Amino acid sequence: MFNLVVIGPPGTGKGTHSQMITGEYGLVHLSTGDMFREHIKMNTATGLVARRYIPRGELVPDRITCRMLYRHTFIPENIRGLLFDGFPRTLNQALLLDKMMTHRDTRINLVIGLQASKKDLMERIKQRESRRHRPDDALLVARRRMEVYEEKTSAVMDYYRAQGRYEEVSSAAPRKDVFRCIQRIIHHYMNKKPTTGISG
Ligand code: AMP
Repeated sequence: MFNLVVIGPPGTGKGTHSQMITGEYGLVHLSTGDMFREHIKMNTATGLVARRYIPRGELVPDRITCRMLYRHTFIPENIRGLLFDGFPRTLNQALLLDKMMTHRDTRINLVIGLQASKKDLMERIKQRESRRHRPDDALLVARRRMEVYEEKTSAVMDYYRAQGRYEEVSSAAPRKDVFRCIQRIIHHYMNKKPTTGISG
C-alpha cells in the first residue's frame, strides 16, 4: 500500500488536489472536513460537537476527530492505498495516525504540504466563499483558521520533515502544474527506500 497525507492552510486547494491524486492513483480518499460536514448535515452526536468548533475556525478536539476517523477507516482488501486529506492537523493526531497505521501493518509513506502566500490564500478564500457560501469561509473565520494552522499544524510538518517523509509544494502555479509537481514527488516516493528525502 502507498499511503499519503495532504495538508495545507485553507485556500491551498488541498481538497481539489486530493481528489486529483486519488483519481490518478486509485487511493481511498479520507477527508475529515468532509466527514464532519456530513455529520453536521445528519445531525449526529459528532455533528453537534463539530458545529461548536467549525464555524469559529477552531479545530474539533483530537479525541472526537480521531474516533470519527477510526470509525470511517475501514480498509478493504486489495486497495492501493489511503489518502488522508486535512488529517493530521495536530502533533497528537500525527502520533495517533502512526499508531493506527502500524496496527494495520502499514505506514504513511509521504506527506505533501501545500503552501501559498497569505495574500493569495485570502484571495482564493474570498472567491470560494462567494461561490459556495461556506459559513466557515467568512473572512474573520478564515483568518482564525490560518492562525490555528500556524499554531498547531506546523508541528505536524516538523514531525514528518524530521523523518524524511515531508515535501512542500507551492500551490501558486496553475493547477495542472501543481499537480505535475505532486506526481513527480509521488513517483519518487513510490520508488524509494523509506528514510531519505527528495532533493531539489
Ligand atoms: P477542511 O475541509 O479540511 O478545511 O476542514 C474544515 C473544518 O473541519 C476545519 O476548519 C476544522 O474545524 C475541522 N477539521 C477538519 N479536519 C480536522 C482535524 N484533522 N482536526 C480537527 N478539526 C478538523
